[in-house]
This record gives sequence, structure tokens and C-alpha cells, in this order.
Amino acid sequence: MDKYGIVLENVSLKNLSTINIGGTAKYLVRPYSYVDLTKLLDYLKENDMKYYILGNASNVLLDDSYFDGVIIKLDEFNSIDIDGNIVTAGAGVMLPKLVNVCLQKELVSLAHFSMIPGTVGGSVVGNAGAYGHEIMEYVKEVKVIDKDNKIKTLTKDDISFGYRYTSLKDNYIVLSATFICEKGNPIEVLSDIGTRNEKRKDTQPLDKPSVGSIFRNPDDIPAGRLIEELGLKGTKVGGAVVSEKHANFIINDGDATFDDVIKLIDKIKKEAKEKRNIDLVCEPTIVRWN
Ligand SMILES: Cc1cc2nc3c(=O)[nH]c(=O)nc-3n(C[C@H](O)[C@H](O)[C@H](O)COP(=O)(O)OP(=O)(O)OC[C@H]3O[C@@H](n4cnc5c(N)ncnc54)[C@H](O)[C@@H]3O)c2cc1C
Repeated sequence: MDKYGIVLENVSLKNLSTINIGGTAKYLVRPYSYVDLTKLLDYLKENDMKYYILGNASNVLLDDSYFDGVIIKLDEFNSIDIDGNIVTAGAGVMLPKLVNVCLQKELVSLAHFSMIPGTVGGSVVGNAGAYGHEIMEYVKEVKVIDKDNKIKTLTKDDISFGYRYTSLKDNYIVLSATFICEKGNPIEVLSDIGTRNEKRKDTQPLDKPSVGSIFRNPDDIPAGRLIEELGLKGTKVGGAVVSEKHANFIINDGDATFDDVIKLIDKIKKEAKEKRNIDLVCEPTIVRWN
């Protein structure tokens, strides 16, 4: 596999995930190029090996058992090309970096996403959003690998999307995304976004290991308010705790395991159903290896 990228063996996924939970993966591969990735996928198919694509692992809850397969990380796909107001970024580019580079060119549209600790690939696939905006608003086209291992370009019209959802998920590997960005005054935008970001820091436990919001907001009430009204702030299962600062965050208060988090999620869901008849839906992807 080392022909196709940087290969690491017996990699702790705990150290890669933002909630510090995860087992050991047999291999982690960072392909050098799009073509190398297609060759790697062929190789894995021929050898009947399982794989999983990870971005910055900020929206996944990873099983902490052993993964007898290959984690593919697209960190080497890290280019940012700007042509006027058209921005193309590799799947491995982190959003805060992309926002910074765009602001230097007075392109302001993506600034809403400056606090999202995800990659372009993971964020486009999940249609990440903040401050009333979603990343798909700005997407022009997305370069992908399809199920037949062919590289192709999908236009925005080829993709269906909604709240924290796109049809790309589990159907394509995103290689890069092209955005249409508006020009604006970066100083004004930075001041506005900066104020909102500061407010977020005051109200969300951004300094603690988490995967961000743990539930989607139900129609009638924000998930955080619901969990708070159920009196569940501070509830603990093992090392997993409902944050006192924002009830829609589960934080890892030390040595939380995958099972601790799942049990805490189930407990919250049960109470929401029994006491308010609300079906809470988990926002991060729960990944079980078996
Ligand atoms: C402190 C904190 C704050 C957050 N704030 C927000 C917020 O404001 N708004 C918001 O929307 N989210 C937020 N999140 C959640 C998360 O950061 C976003 O959902 C982010 O977009 C996930 O990107 P990622 O690269 O980490 O994806 P990952 O978690 O690595 O992956 C998510 C899913 O996408 C798939 N995937 C990843 N890359 C690719 C690819 N290239 N091709 C195909 N599939 C891929 C994975 O297999 C997985 O199923 C927050 C998280 C934290 C920890």
C-alpha cells in the first residue's frame, strides 16, 4: 500500500478524534494523489480489505474496538486554488484555514464556518452549517470518486441536500469542492463573526473533547433547551457527561469509552421520548466496526 500513500500501522483513533474516543486501526493511509486513491481502492477491493474515510473525525463516534481495516485520510489533498471569486479546496483542507485564505482575498462567504473544526470533505458531505448558513449554499461543484472507482465532477444540481445532510454521504468520496464566494470587507466580517464566535465560546464547551452538537434540533425546541428542561445537565455515564455549559454537548471528562457515550445518548433519548414524546436524532455518525 505504501506505493499509494503514507502508510501507518496500528494507529490509535482516539488521538485523532475530537472527542478522544476510538480504538486501534490496523492501517491508516494518506494517499498522495487522486489517482493513487483510486489505485488504493482497487487494491483494497482485490484484497477484500475494509476501509473507512475520515476527515478530522469531529462528527463521528468511533467504536473503540480494533478495526481490522484501513482508515483513509485525505490530508494530502490540501490545495486551495482561487480564481476570482471561485475557490477550489481539497477535501483535506480544514475549514478555519480555508476561511483565512479566502478572507485574505476579500472573499467573505465562507466566514460563517470559521469555528467548525472539520475538513472540506467531511463538511460538504454532512452539509455543515453555522449562524443560519449551510456550506452547500456556496458549493458550485464537487469532485468525487464514485462506487465504480471513477473520478467525476458533480454539479450542485446533481446533489440533494438538507439540514446536515447530502446525498454524497456513503455514496461518494469527496476529493475537492468548488465554492462561489462573494467579495466583501474582511474587517467588517471578521468583527461580526468574531463577536458571534466569542458568544459561542461563552455558551459552548469548545475547550473540552466533544463532537459538537450531539442531537439535531427537533422542530419545536432546540435540543439543548429540551435536555436542560429534562434536568439532564451534568448527567454522567462513566467518563461521558452532559455539559453544564450547553446541554446538547456530551463531553469526554477523562476516560470516556464509546459505550459510555452511547449509553448516555440512549438515556437522553429515552427521557425525551417518555417525558416529552420527542424522538431525538443523533447528529454525529456512529461508526461500529462489526
Ligand atoms: C467543537 C465542535 C464544534 C462544532 N461546530 C459545528 C458547527 O457549528 N456546525 C456544524 O455543522 N458542525 C459542527 N461540528 C461538527 C463537525 O465539526 C462538522 O460536522 C464537520 O463538518 C465534520 O467534518 P470532519 O472532517 O471532521 O468529518 P468527519 O467527522 O471526519 O466525518 C464525518 C462523516 O463524513 C465522512 N467523510 C469525511 N470526509 C469525507 C470525504 N472526503 N468523502 C466522503 N465522506 C467523507 C465520514 O466517513 C463520516 O461519515 C462541531 C464539532 C466540534 C467538535
